[in-house]
Amino acid sequence: MDTSGKMGPIATSCAQVVAASERPTARNFGERAARIGRLVELGIRCPRTVAVSIDAVGAEHGGAAMDVSPVLDQFEPRPLLSVRSSPRFSRCGGVGVFLWVGLNNAALPMLAERIGRKRALHAYKRHIRNFAYRVHEVEIDSPSRQPGQSTRECEVEVGRLLESFRRKVGTEFPQSPSEQLRAAVRTMAKGWNKPSARLLRTARGFSGETGLGLVVQEMVLCRSSRGMRVWSSQAINVETGRKDFRVGIGEQANSADIATADSEVALSRGWEDELRRIHDKLRRSLADEIQLRFADDGTDVFVLEYGVLQKSVAAEVRVAVELVQAGVIDKQDALLRIDPENLASLLHPQVSPEANNRVIAKGIAASPGAASGAIVFSSSAADVRAARSQGCILVRAETGPEDIRGMHIAQGVLTGRGGMTSHAAVIARGLGVPCVAGATNIDFWPQSGALVTDEGNIFREGDTITIDGTAGVVLEGAAPTLPPDYGRAVRQFLDWADCCRDLGIRANADTLDEVKIALRFGAEGVGLCRTEHMFFDESRLTVMREMIFASTPAERRQSLEKLLPMQRGDFLQLFQSLPGKPVCIRLLDPPLHEFLPPDQDELATLLPPPPLHEFLPPDQDARADLAEAIGLSLEQLTARAEELKEFNPMLGLRGVRLGISVPEIYEMQARAIFEAAAEATARGISVSPEIMVPLVTANREVVLVKRQIDQVAEEVRASTGVDFEFELGVMVETPRAALRAGELAANATFLSFGTNDLTQLTYGISRDDSARIVDEYVRLGVFPADPFSRIDREGVGELLQLAVSRGMDTRPDLLLSLCGEHAASADTIEFSRQAKFSYVSCSPFRVPIARLAAAQAAIRQRRAAG
Ligand code: PEP
Ligand code: MG
Repeated sequence: MDTSGKMGPIATSCAQVVAASERPTARNFGERAARIGRLVELGIRCPRTVAVSIDAVGAEHGGAAMDVSPVLDQFEPRPLLSVRSSPRFSRCGGVGVFLWVGLNNAALPMLAERIGRKRALHAYKRHIRNFAYRVHEVEIDSPSRQPGQSTRECEVEVGRLLESFRRKVGTEFPQSPSEQLRAAVRTMAKGWNKPSARLLRTARGFSGETGLGLVVQEMVLCRSSRGMRVWSSQAINVETGRKDFRVGIGEQANSADIATADSEVALSRGWEDELRRIHDKLRRSLADEIQLRFADDGTDVFVLEYGVLQKSVAAEVRVAVELVQAGVIDKQDALLRIDPENLASLLHPQVSPEANNRVIAKGIAASPGAASGAIVFSSSAADVRAARSQGCILVRAETGPEDIRGMHIAQGVLTGRGGMTSHAAVIARGLGVPCVAGATNIDFWPQSGALVTDEGNIFREGDTITIDGTAGVVLEGAAPTLPPDYGRAVRQFLDWADCCRDLGIRANADTLDEVKIALRFGAEGVGLCRTEHMFFDESRLTVMREMIFASTPAERRQSLEKLLPMQRGDFLQLFQSLPGKPVCIRLLDPPLHEFLPPDQDELATLLPPPPLHEFLPPDQDARADLAEAIGLSLEQLTARAEELKEFNPMLGLRGVRLGISVPEIYEMQARAIFEAAAEATARGISVSPEIMVPLVTANREVVLVKRQIDQVAEEVRASTGVDFEFELGVMVETPRAALRAGELAANATFLSFGTNDLTQLTYGISRDDSARIVDEYVRLGVFPADPFSRIDREGVGELLQLAVSRGMDTRPDLLLSLCGEHAASADTIEFSRQAKFSYVSCSPFRVPIARLAAAQAAIRQRRAAG
C-alpha cells in the first residue's frame, strides 16, 4: 500500500490529499484531518487519506451535492474506504464512521482474495445493513455475523440482505462507489446538523455552528485469523505517568482504560519497536503523551489517528518533567502546563472519580482532600474513636477553641456555618484536614447526636460519611479515595518553579507539625504564627482562663508567669526548626471570650428549637468545673464572664486593643519571644524574629506597643547578656490602618496585609457568616466572586495599593507581604507581585500551589515583556 505522502495533489478545493507537502489545517478540514497531516509529515505510515473540507460538508448540507469523483480518483481502481468525521474541534464530538464504502459485488472477489472469502462476505453484509440503517433509516433484520456460518450460508445471506434492501428501501443497493460515498457524505453532514447533535455541542461548550470536515481513508485489509481490528496503544500509565507500554483493542481514541487482554497478541506480532518509535516521534512533535489508534495488514502497522492522553495531575507533572529532561520542552513551558490549584490533589488523598456515593450535603470547599469516618459531635467523642483506632469526622455547627483537639484527631471536619476564613477552615487548612464548611442544606443537632438532610435523612453519631473538601461535598458512607502523590517528579517540578519566581512564599504555621509540613512543601519561613493557637491545648487553656478571670494586674501576672515558660518553649522550638529563616509572630489577636466555654445563650443559638433543647447538658457544670480549676466561686466567674461579654466581640476588645488594655499579655509574649531568641542565639542558632501587631487602627497603638516591646527587649538583652535583633511590624487588616499606612510605617519595618479581616471590614460582611450572603450575591451577579476566596481587586485591592504607596513614601525599604487566606491563589499572587510585595504567606498545604503560581506569574510577565 502506498502511503499518502507519495500521492499527487488533488484537483479540487473541497478536498485535499493528505500529503507531507500539503498538510490540511484544522481550520479548513477539522482536527482529525490536521492530525493525520502531522502523521504524514512525520513520515509515520498511514492509510492513504483524502480530507474533505468543512466548507464542502457545509455546502453538502445546504443542498449542493458534492462532486466526489476527485476523491475517488485517488483510490482507484477498487476503492474500499472508511469515512470518518473531522470536526473543527475534536472535543465537540462527531458522527459515526462509515466503513467499507465502495464495497460492491464487483469488489467482493478482490476483497476475498485479500482477507478470505468468508470474512469478505461478513464485511459486505455489515456494509449493506449499515448503509440501509444509516442512509435510509431502515433496519434489515439479519444479524451480520452468525457463529459457525459456512461460506455458502454467508453467500446466501448476502443475497437475502440485498433483496431485503430492495424491498424495504425501494431501490437496489447502490453498486456505484461514488453513489455510496456521496450518500455517506450526505448522511454524515445531516447527522452533524441534527438538533440533538447541535445541542450536544453546545452542552460541551462549543457553538452549534462548529464545522465538520471528513476524512476518507483507504481501509487497511488484513488476512488474520483474529480478524481486522483497530488497535490502541499508549506508552504511559495515565494515573501515575510512569512508562507502561500497552496495546489493546481500542475504538475510543481517548479511552484511558485501554484493554490489556490483547497486548501480548499485539506485541507478539513484532510491532512493539515500531510503535514505541511512533510514540516517541509524536511525543517529541506534540510535546505530550498520546494514544494511538492503528490497524495492521498482517505485517505492517498503519496509524489511523492519535489523541492527547487525558491524565491525572500526577501524570501531567511527571510527563512535563520527563519532556524537559528529554529536551522536548523547556522548564518554563513545563511550569505553565499545570494549573496550580490542581496540585492540591497531589498533596492530599482525593475522592476517586469512580466513587458513586450519594451526596448528602454541599458547602464551601474549605480545606482540600478526602476522608471518611464515623460522625462525632465533640472532641471527647473524637478521643473515644481515636482510642479505638477508628477514623472520625468532627461535625459542628461551627468550631471554636474547644474543638481544636478534636480537629487534630478527626480525619475530616464538617461545619454548618462559616466560609473560607472561618475558624474551622483556617485550622483545617493548617492541619491539612479536609473540611467542608457552611453546609447550609443540613440541620445540625449536635446535642441530640444527629444531623438531618434537606431530604429528611437522619445521620447519627457513629454513621460513616466522607468529606470531600476539594469539591465541597459530603458523601454518604466511605467513598473510595486515591492516595496523594508528592513524589520526586513533583519536587523536581517545584524546584524549577523556585528558580523562576521572584516572590517569597512563607507559611502560616503555629505548631511544630505545621512548620514541618511547611518546610517539606518548600516554605521559606513563617509569615504568620497565630499565637492564640498555642493556648488552645487543654493544659494551657485552664491557665489562660485563670489569667482572663484574674481581677487584679498582680493576679494576672501570676497566671502569665505560668504561661511564660510555655510560650518560651513554643518559640524556641519554632526557632530551632527554622534556623536562619524568618519567623513572623503575631501577638495575641482574638477577643478573650474565645478562650471561654460557650455560654448557654450562645449554645442555644446553635440549636434547633425545643424539644431538642432538653438534651443540652446544663452549662452550669462546665462553668463549675472551670471555677474549681481556677480557684474562683461560680458567682465570681459568672460576674467576670458578664464583664467580658460583648455584643460584637470581633469588633470589640481584640488585637492590639487587648494588648493596650491588658498590657501584661503582650509583655509576656514579647519576653517569651526574646528569651527564646536569646537562648537560640546562645546555642548558635541564627534567629530572625519578627513581631507583628494585629488589628491596628491608629498610629498611637503602635507607638505604645513598640515602646513596651523595646523595653522588654532591652531587659532580656541585659538579663541574658545575649544580643539579638528583631523587627516590629503592623498587620494591616482594618481599612483605617491601610489609609494611615504612611504614618504606621514610621514605627514599623514591615506591613503584612491580613486580607481576611480587611475584606470583612471593607465589605462590612462577617467572615464567619458570609457563606449564605455571598453564595446568593455571586449567583445574582452582585459580586463577581466570593471576596473571601478571591481578592477583591477593586475595593480591597485599592486599599492595599494606597497602603503600599503611602507606606513606601515613609519608608522606601518597607517589607510588604500578604497573609490572609487569599495568599496562595494565582490572582492574589499576580497582584502581590505587581504591588511589589516581598512574600505571601499561606497555609502549609497551599505552599506548593503558591510556589507554582508565583513562578507562572513571573514567566508570563517576562514573556509578555518579550
Ligand atoms: C487576616 O485577618 O487576614 C489574618 C490573616 O488573620 P486572622 O485570619 O487570624 O484574623
Ligand atoms: Mg485578622
